[in-house]
Amino acid sequence: MRVLLTGGSGFIAAHVLEILLEHGHSVVTTVRSQEKARLVAENHKSYGKDKLDFAIVEDIAQENAFDEAVKSDPPFEAVIHTASPFHFNVTDVQKQLLDPAIIGTTGILKSVKKSAPTVKRVVITSSFASIINPFKGTWPEHTYSEADWNPISAEQAVQNPANGYRASKTFAERAAWDFLEQEKPNFTIATMCPPLVLGPIVHYLNSLDALNTSNQRIRDIMQGKAKDEIPETGTYIWVDVRDLALCHVLAIEKEEAANKRFFITAGYFSNKQIAESIGRHYSQYKEQLPTSSTPGGDFPKDGLYKIDNERVQKVLGIKFRSFDESIKDTVKSLQAVGA
Ligand code: NDP
Repeated sequence: MRVLLTGGSGFIAAHVLEILLEHGHSVVTTVRSQEKARLVAENHKSYGKDKLDFAIVEDIAQENAFDEAVKSDPPFEAVIHTASPFHFNVTDVQKQLLDPAIIGTTGILKSVKKSAPTVKRVVITSSFASIINPFKGTWPEHTYSEADWNPISAEQAVQNPANGYRASKTFAERAAWDFLEQEKPNFTIATMCPPLVLGPIVHYLNSLDALNTSNQRIRDIMQGKAKDEIPETGTYIWVDVRDLALCHVLAIEKEEAANKRFFITAGYFSNKQIAESIGRHYSQYKEQLPTSSTPGGDFPKDGLYKIDNERVQKVLGIKFRSFDESIKDTVKSLQAVGA
């Protein structure tokens, strides 16, 4: 298939790109600068321009940002939209989180409808942030599934960056489903809703100081920041980036994924378990790691929400990697950038 992948230099998208190429697809990926395009191209020298090419889209928050990128010869058959800000370092929630997420999502759908009539499927990276009800806490009597929607309001969205990020994912995904209903385009969509994504980084795009948000806790624990007290886990469910990336690719390949939302999680974890797993595999971090008596980082005492991840296993046939394997491989990849 000829595929447009947005944000190809991102943590998750870098793995989506690998799997697309392994599966024999021909990919154009958007990045924000020529420098990023050069870095990605340099590390994929065995693929010719017919297999891997680039389009520069500097800011997805601009209306019509994707108008040119969706045009291709040969034309695209599928689009995977991953680009969206995921960090909390913002001063203006509206401009820095909500606009790129929402305008980015509706923008690409509009551009595809207008200028890429051969596209049959658009896969969108949403998040567990659009599923969780953050006002219910640990909610032990509830089972989260694709049926749940975060009820966050527009007023709550701008109260702080954490709300802003969750709202950005919720509103963007809602906008995609609304687009489908109102515009009745030629394509179907599939949305990917992962919780915390852990797993190896692509070394040539990363440094220890500029690490993607979800892996920062692993780096911090390796660097001794949890030695006296392990920080609260926050979200207690996770998935490995390679499994999530495979889900994105399967979602363009499998007819049955059409117009489905996927809650993609491998299961529970705690920050304490991250520290234990690092210790089991890498003795050199012993001095930096917390011990069994260090306070914090454990599961909540009053129980935790249940999770129903049956759909992704049944429809996409995915088998999840273990937490231990994920942590082991993540640490190894961080060592490659100096950890
Ligand atoms: P990254 O920060 O590594 O990737 C984000 C990507 O989006 C980067 O390529 C970034 O480009 C691009 N981007 C951000 N803002 C803009 C903008 N205004 N214009 C153009 N491009 C932009 O994070 P992840 O790979 O983790 O995130 C990818 C997707 O997965 C996001 O949609 C995120 O919400 C979602 N997600 C991530 C989870 C996680 O735990 N990692 C969990 C659930 C969902 P650049 O780096 O050049 O700025």
